[in-house]
Amino acid sequence: MPSVYLHYFDTESCNSILETSGIIKKKGNQALGLMSIRCPGCKELNKPGSRFCTKCEMVLTYDAYAETLAKEQHRDSEINHLRVKLEAVQEEQNQRFDQVIEMIRYNPKLARLKREVLMTRPLKKK
Ligand SMILES: [Zn+2]
Repeated sequence: MPSVYLHYFDTESCNSILETSGIIKKKGNQALGLMSIRCPGCKELNKPGSRFCTKCEMVLTYDAYAETLAKEQHRDSEINHLRVKLEAVQEEQNQRFDQVIEMIRYNPKLARLKREVLMTRPLKKK
């Protein structure tokens, strides 16, 4: 039993339990937080504590992975939100265009447009 308190960071306590149980090998006296991290993708050796590979930007920690996933989900929901807004704006624009064309058809003096332009219809949504 240590005579002073032990302070664990990040996954150190988990690893300590796994080492004690013999599930993983002991890392010797080297502190886990000071170990370089080898990228599983490109084999680049990254500084201790790196969250992403400096060479290929692969995630190196679970926290970085979870953060990246959350950012992607946020971005996807933003894109969907903007897509819905864009469709609504396009629909409104088409309706207004139809109204203007109808008005001009009943009273061509409202616009000094060429006949060909008046016959042009907006593209229909698929
Ligand atoms: Zn890499």
